[in-house]
Amino acid sequence: MVSRKSIRRKNNYYRADDSIELNISEDEEHNTVVFKIIINGKEVKHYSDFMAFMLFSKYPFESYMNCRWSVFEPFTCSCGASGCAGIWRAITPKHRRFTVEWRVPKESGYGFLDKPFYQFGTWQYEEQISKIWEWINDHREVEHERRPIGDWLDSWFEDEEFFPALEYLDSL
Ligand SMILES: [Zn+2]
Repeated sequence: MVSRKSIRRKNNYYRADDSIELNISEDEEHNTVVFKIIINGKEVKHYSDFMAFMLFSKYPFESYMNCRWSVFEPFTCSCGASGCAGIWRAITPKHRRFTVEWRVPKESGYGFLDKPFYQFGTWQYEEQISKIWEWINDHREVEHERRPIGDWLDSWFEDEEFFPALEYLDSL
């Protein structure tokens, strides 16, 4: 006999609660990247960083001593320091087979988000990441945080810490 609970679990595998769209373009006048995150059809009104999705969505954890914490900060300040925008902790993402979940820390400056927990469909989420990855590789000369994207990419490929993330991006 199939219990109600297992039916619910099965449905959750295939139908995500939330949708996400990542939009990247070039501000041609200033030669800079314009990056937008659209969640459930609504643009999140906050400075957003595409690099967080490239490097830290699938591999978010850093550790020191016995502590392990996420460094996935898609919402930050235009200078790159999230604390500057009043954000004190990173979002914890979890990539599962059918869903990608975001757990948003409480009282850490995320008042502009509607919910403390998001569940996106993995297929859609990765399609968006792959789109951004392709775009930045095609626009190496455009600047992000005052450096050409190409410089950022070169520095990532020199840093072993990022190899798993880069392999993941190439696999999409
Ligand atoms: Zn700042």
